[in-house]
Amino acid sequence: MTVPPGTERVGIVGGGIIGLAIARALALTGGFDVTVLEKERRVAAHQTGHNSGVVHAGLYYQPGSLKAILCARGRELTRDYCRDRALPYRELGKLVVAVTPEEVPRLDEIERRARANGVPDLARIGPERMLELERHVAGVGAVHSPHTAVVDFAAIAEAMASDVRGAGGRVLLGAEVVGVSAGERTTAVATTAGSHTFDRLIVCAGLQSDLVARLVGASPSPRILPFRGEYWTLEPSRAELVRGMIYPVPDPRFPFLGVHFTRGVYDDVHVGPNAVPALAREGYGWGNVSLRDTFGSLMWPGAPALFRRHWRMGAREILASLLKPLYYRQAREFVPELRPSDLVEKAHAGVRAQAWSADGSLLDDFAVDQVGSVTLLRNAPSPAATSSMAIAEYVLREHLGVPVREG
Ligand SMILES: Cc1cc2nc3c(=O)[nH]c(=O)nc-3n(C[C@H](O)[C@H](O)[C@H](O)COP(=O)(O)OP(=O)(O)OC[C@H]3O[C@@H](n4cnc5c(N)ncnc54)[C@H](O)[C@@H]3O)c2cc1C
Repeated sequence: MTVPPGTERVGIVGGGIIGLAIARALALTGGFDVTVLEKERRVAAHQTGHNSGVVHAGLYYQPGSLKAILCARGRELTRDYCRDRALPYRELGKLVVAVTPEEVPRLDEIERRARANGVPDLARIGPERMLELERHVAGVGAVHSPHTAVVDFAAIAEAMASDVRGAGGRVLLGAEVVGVSAGERTTAVATTAGSHTFDRLIVCAGLQSDLVARLVGASPSPRILPFRGEYWTLEPSRAELVRGMIYPVPDPRFPFLGVHFTRGVYDDVHVGPNAVPALAREGYGWGNVSLRDTFGSLMWPGAPALFRRHWRMGAREILASLLKPLYYRQAREFVPELRPSDLVEKAHAGVRAQAWSADGSLLDDFAVDQVGSVTLLRNAPSPAATSSMAIAEYVLREHLGVPVREG
């Protein structure tokens, strides 16, 4: 395809919310011919379409980290985008609840980080105020973030895809990238639906990001360790048990937030997600097994260290995944009125793309690498959906040298 002189051809691997946010930002900037290559027949088919739908306000993250900075900016951009596109955005607010006095020092640390991160209108509250906000919650204290919101990230991703097309870009579905050959000036990309030549390539392949990085010739580390998060649906007649979001105080040794209650944007209430090692990168249930993925994880140099560090937590999560009474017991800690029969069915599950170093550590912050003219998103777990539009600004500014309008 011929493009006007001076136009840069940019290929983006992955039609999740990160790839689409970057594609949209480039397409709207002008001067770029943008093509998104997505292996599935629809956008948002993996993490973007299988998550909690929470627009995080930035409570947890290490102050100064990319997560802290881009989550705060991303929340504002997402709120404005939803308003402009008439997409649902509901500020239902969130409580992070210390159930026992032993959890209070960890809650103090969350409060300290949240204040350092400038979380708007944050409040430290006691049991009385907690009960005003959430009538069925139990605990000794909480942090309240009133602007934490819920959205439909898949709908946002679809709107972004339509913006890309509207600005003259392409979102090609069913186009799995199977080969990349980076030359001095251009990069040739082979897909299952034809070949392309780009001046720049940006890889936002989520659960497959390390495999696509290998195609590019980048280091195989960090590897992606898939962690499934399973949700239970709350019986609709009992949905009044939860008004907004109720979260535990997270375990700082683990990069996940713990099983929580979330009232979704369409008023369904779900409980989850847990965090169990998935047996395939796209392993949405125990029946989805990939020997290549599982064997690859077991053989990874970091596996013994990770196992030593987290086997207790891992065993607990696996048992709670297999035995509903254990899952129920975790959830009931915050909402004592919850009955086993209130958890009606295992709803959806999502698989997190968690980057994992060869030394066994799980990467905490977002990670973006540059290999020649190829930009690689190597770690974009939660809150990356919240942060997607800010990640797009960051990638444009820091990796493509494109000035971003402040606004
Ligand atoms: C259970 C769970 C709960 C979460 N909750 C939240 C939350 O409440 N709030 C929040 O902000 N974040 C949350 N997250 C994180 C958030 O969903 C992700 O950070 C975000 O969706 C990442 O977007 P992505 O575009 O990088 O990845 P994805 O959405 O996974 O997209 C990657 C895309 O790349 C495509 N792809 C892969 N390989 C190839 C290839 N070779 N060729 C072409 N295409 C390819 C895939 O098909 C996929 O569509 C959650 C995640 C999970 C799993």
